[in-house]
Formats: sequence, structure tokens, C-alpha cells
Amino acid sequence: MNIAILGAGAMGSLFGGLLAETGASVTLLDINQQHLDAIRRDGLRLETDDPATGPRIRRITQLLACRPEAATQIPDLLMIFTKTHQTHAALTSARHLLGPKTWVLTLQNGLGNVEAISGFVPRDRILVGVTTLPADFLSPGVVSSHGGGQIRMAAADPTAQVICDGCMLSTVVDLFTRAGLRCSADPNVWAAIWEKVAFNAAFNALCAVTGCTVEQIELVPSGPTTALAVVAEVIAVAHAAGIPADLGHTQAMVLDSFKKHAGHQPSMLQDILAHRRTEIDSINGAVVRAAALHSIPVPNTAMLYTLVRLIESRQQQSAAPTCHEELATTR
Ligand code: NAD
Repeated sequence: MNIAILGAGAMGSLFGGLLAETGASVTLLDINQQHLDAIRRDGLRLETDDPATGPRIRRITQLLACRPEAATQIPDLLMIFTKTHQTHAALTSARHLLGPKTWVLTLQNGLGNVEAISGFVPRDRILVGVTTLPADFLSPGVVSSHGGGQIRMAAADPTAQVICDGCMLSTVVDLFTRAGLRCSADPNVWAAIWEKVAFNAAFNALCAVTGCTVEQIELVPSGPTTALAVVAEVIAVAHAAGIPADLGHTQAMVLDSFKKHAGHQPSMLQDILAHRRTEIDSINGAVVRAAALHSIPVPNTAMLYTLVRLIESRQQQSAAPTCHEELATTR
């Protein structure tokens, strides 16, 4: 199997490295030149603590790594692992790699990923899923993943949901399983996707706005209450959209996280601290838009959406050059 990973940051490099270890031919496509240079020079240093995926620390040297526009080999499978707001630009620069038989897999967080990809390949060649596997980008050429997780995926086209031998879905599930990943084909994947969106809409946004680590949300009683209210709102929207997401299960995940993920800064908080754009638009924003379609009130989700967007906009504004600075640089 010939695989391209478009967006080879924390998750893309982790999956790329693990898949290359199965013997698959893997090309990492990214625009982070330092990361590409480090991988070409020294290989990818991967740190994992799940014995099923291999030794704790190793260097993977058989990866190809280049910018999307420099790649020439058309892959059987292109995995997109950019942040959600980077999908369109990334696929535009990789459009020449999307052959008539290329499948695209997204395990990105949030909603709207299939819609974004279907501007580039037909929906009947898209696989969509969700993963609870964590990954961190430590430095150029170095990625870690601590703690296990699962992957659930399905064909994006509901008429192609049949799981058959030799279908791309079963081929990819087998490949991931050989890489030591806990992966299953799941026709009910949209429920899992919405449950993760509910979890992220609560935790990511609350932590991004307050600067709290996960367990610090419990410092005031209304912290957990607000998190649970967001989850209830998102699951209500999922139900209105016909997705059988499980409220009790998702709220239990939230309560469990206060203990399990103590000290953790969710990615949205990390993005705010680094003055990077967040994925708020495809998480809380997408829920607010879907809620409007079904006339479901989502006041907590919407409030967090506004607050995170205000922080982002303020940061962008202060990063933009003033007219005096612009004038000085054009002289
Ligand atoms: P990341 O920022 O580490 O990686 C994204 C990569 O995309 C970067 O290396 C960036 O340089 C690259 N990129 C940006 N624009 C590009 C372009 N135009 N062309 C090619 N590459 C481009 O992000 P991540 O943490 O790996 O997350 C990726 C996705 O997976 C997100 O949707 C995230 O929510 C989801 N996810 C992350 C985790 C996690 O633990 N990190 C877990 C589950 C899901």
C-alpha cells in the first residue's frame, strides 16, 4: 500500500511512522520545512508507551518527507491530518496526488471534514473516523504518544457501508491493526464523532478561555456543571440530526477526565497560548450552526464559541502590523 500523510505534525507523523513500520510505503507531506529536513536527515524519532506498537523509543528512517507540491507518486490512501482549518489549503496543494483510485481518510477532530474533502474527491472514496489516540509534537523530527486509544472508522458514503474483504475500509483497518493500533470498522462512527465533538466543545473551549488545565475546571462547582451542560447541548443537536450519540457515556467521559487527565492542557489551550488559530470553528462553531438548522438552543456552546473567537481575533489583531509599521516596511 502506498500511503501519503498530508499534514505530518503530531498525529500525522505518529501514524506515518507506525504505518511505515509495517512495511507500507509512506510519504509525509508537510509545510514545516524544519520538520521535513530533520526527518530526511535523521529519520523520525518516535516515543510511544504502548508495547503493541513497538519499542518505547525508536528512529524510523524509511519515511519519505517533502512538501505537498514536490510529491509525485499518486497514493492508494491519503490520510489528512492537518488542523481542520488547514484542510482546504493542504488539499489544494496536493490536488495532483488525488488519482482516480486514491482514497482519502480523515480522523481529524470536529465536524465538516467530509464536506471539506468532498470538494476534492467524491464522497464514495472518503473514509471518516475518530481516534482517541493522543500525540504530541516535541520538536522537528520528534513526536510522542503517551497513553493508548482507539480508532473507529467507516465509509463516508452511507451506501458504501458494507464491510467486505478487499474493500478499502477493511484493508485500512487490517493495516492499522498490523501497526499495533486498536482499530475497527464501525457503521455507527458518527455517534462516536459527535461524542468526541461534545467532549471537545466542553473541555477544549472551557480550558482555552480560562487557561485552566483539565482538573482545574473543578475548582468551582459551576465548572463541571458548565462542561456537562455543553455536552448535553451538543448531544441534543446530534439527536436532532438523527445521530444516536450517547449522552450518559459522554458525560461519564467528562467526569472521568477530571481524574484521568489531571495537568493536561487541551490542544485548544495550547493553541491559544502559542497564539495559533484554534479548531473552534469546526467544533463549537459547527455545533452552533447545526443547532440553528434544528432550532435547538445551545447557549453555553455558543458563548464559548464567541469567547474563543474573541481571544483569537484579539491575538490576530495584535500580531498584525500597524499602518505605521506597514508604511515603514514599504519604504
Ligand atoms: P499539528 O498541528 O501537530 O499537525 C498539523 C500539521 O499540518 C502541521 O505539521 C502543519 O505544518 C501541517 N500543515 C498545515 N498546513 C499545511 C498545508 N497547507 N499542507 C501540508 N501540511 C500542512 O496537529 P495534530 O495535533 O497532529 O492534529 C491534527 C488533527 O488531528 C486535528 O484535527 C486534531 O484535532 C486531530 N487530533 C489530534 C490529536 C492529538 O492528540 N494531537 C488526537 C486526536 C485528533
